Amino acid sequence: MLDRITEAGFDLDSFDPSDLQSLDRDQFAKTGAAILELYRADRQENQLRYYKPVSPAARKIHEATETIIGVGGGNGSSKTETCMVELLILSTGIIPDSLNDGTIDWKAKFRGPRKQRIVVESLTTTLHTIILPKLKWWVWTGLGEPGGPKGHWGWLPKWALIDGSWDKSWSEKLRLLRFLCRNPDDPDEVLGESTIQFMAHGQEPQDFASGDFDEVLHDEPPRLAIWTENEARTMRADGRMLLAMTWPDDPAIPVDWIHDKIYAHGREPDKREDTIWLELSTFDNPHLNQESVRSQAERWDSVTRAVRFEGKPIRFSNRVHPLFTDRDAWWCFSCKKDSFVELREGKYRCVECNGTNVQLYNHVAAFDVEPTWPTVYLLDPHPRKPHMMLWAQISPQDDVWIQKELEHDGGCEEVSERVMIIEEEFGFQVAKRWMDPNMGASPANAQRREQTWQDEFSDSGLRCDLADDFMGGRKRINTYLEPDPRTYDVRIHVHRDRCPTVVSQMLRYCWADYKRSTERDQLQKPRDKYDDYPTLLKYLLNSNPEFTVLRTGSPIISRRRANIEARKNPNKNRGSESWSREQYSRRYSTAHW
Ligand SMILES: [Zn+2]
Repeated sequence: MLDRITEAGFDLDSFDPSDLQSLDRDQFAKTGAAILELYRADRQENQLRYYKPVSPAARKIHEATETIIGVGGGNGSSKTETCMVELLILSTGIIPDSLNDGTIDWKAKFRGPRKQRIVVESLTTTLHTIILPKLKWWVWTGLGEPGGPKGHWGWLPKWALIDGSWDKSWSEKLRLLRFLCRNPDDPDEVLGESTIQFMAHGQEPQDFASGDFDEVLHDEPPRLAIWTENEARTMRADGRMLLAMTWPDDPAIPVDWIHDKIYAHGREPDKREDTIWLELSTFDNPHLNQESVRSQAERWDSVTRAVRFEGKPIRFSNRVHPLFTDRDAWWCFSCKKDSFVELREGKYRCVECNGTNVQLYNHVAAFDVEPTWPTVYLLDPHPRKPHMMLWAQISPQDDVWIQKELEHDGGCEEVSERVMIIEEEFGFQVAKRWMDPNMGASPANAQRREQTWQDEFSDSGLRCDLADDFMGGRKRINTYLEPDPRTYDVRIHVHRDRCPTVVSQMLRYCWADYKRSTERDQLQKPRDKYDDYPTLLKYLLNSNPEFTVLRTGSPIISRRRANIEARKNPNKNRGSESWSREQYSRRYSTAHW
């Protein structure tokens, strides 16, 4: 402190505020200038103390106490930087004033000197050009004049460096940054030395297999093998794992595991205690030129905007049924596509066409069994894995309500028995049974090749017809997934609790090769993974299920006593209602486009 004061030509030790009154004009101006200079220098060399999270969402990263923190952020949303600051607070012991207001229990989070690791995209491109400059106290990031209000200096304070020197702190050979960790309550006390090791996505997973770490931050999605190795590194130190990313729209980057391990467990309804998922929006970063962000937003379609600015997942851009959603979304009937809305002049308006003919939709909900609706049973026999089956009810509007899924790895007799029990229990009146035509016509066992799966199940009481494998059914599913202008509702509903695998497969079923959807024709092949239930649904729609035909045109092949308890309004528990319009107005009334 003292050297800075002397540099500025001002001695704070002998300064008494009451002296100000006795200063003449010139002396007063000099003193004021000296204090300003002190402040400016301190702000530059000690930027971490002056750090303010860019948004309430960013603040949550510092509030989080979970061991796994996933941050989905748009480009320039400050996601990586916020995570880096969190690491630095813990490793330097310097707590920013804005976060030291008693709302965060730093005593619980701070544990003295740290060993940290940051995994960057590339050691040759991003490390020296993007990541390290964010740490150098003399490098300015932001808009306008260095030192101005719209930006910041590097986050690692000069007085945390070894002898105040970056060169002494940084080892290019080891890609290791060493610096001092101080006691947050008494900054003069140095508790020891913290380190940050820098590694990159391109390195081999075994290169990550040494040392224990208190925190590991991943900038953009690493390979699963690297994540797993780092998990082992932090486990022994009771450490934390952080990931800051924009969902890639390049499907060559596998991110399914991030969705399953971090995203799904980091938020409701399946939030786990040790995991949190946060989203940062580009629009909330005041250090960006928001004008140019907005003009870029106008040039992008709604999906790209959601991914690039809001940090929303897009790993499904290659999905066979891209519209299928288990989260509420908006549909614009004028644009005939999923869209974003904003609340203006008391009305929800499509951001693309400004129209008000918009509707919330969600394919996944809780609903009751309708005892008077005909049920279609679909079966996909598997010789080496469980047989998969589902029950779908057809409404008087010919819409599809998928009520129940089942996987069973017993023999045909056991499966048939289980099926009968379920149909009794739910009161399904089964009007039609369909079976996968390829497997259904295959020999069920190698010894008696003339006996097919269809025969085997038929002998045990489950008489199924071979379904039509025509690929047009997939396209039809997509049409049914759109909200219908007659009913303002989608035409395929999946039961939230009784059909979890249908939901997860519909969300994950992808084309084998990535092509832009406009180039995609029906000859393109979907991947085999996650295809079981989507394929059964394809068979269902290929059969053109109609309420009147199923109910009266063909005999009810299995009549069950109606379950009176289940005779309730199926609309009652629609998922859409769980999202009130008010929630959307809060979300979108401040929309920035
Ligand atoms: Zn529209």
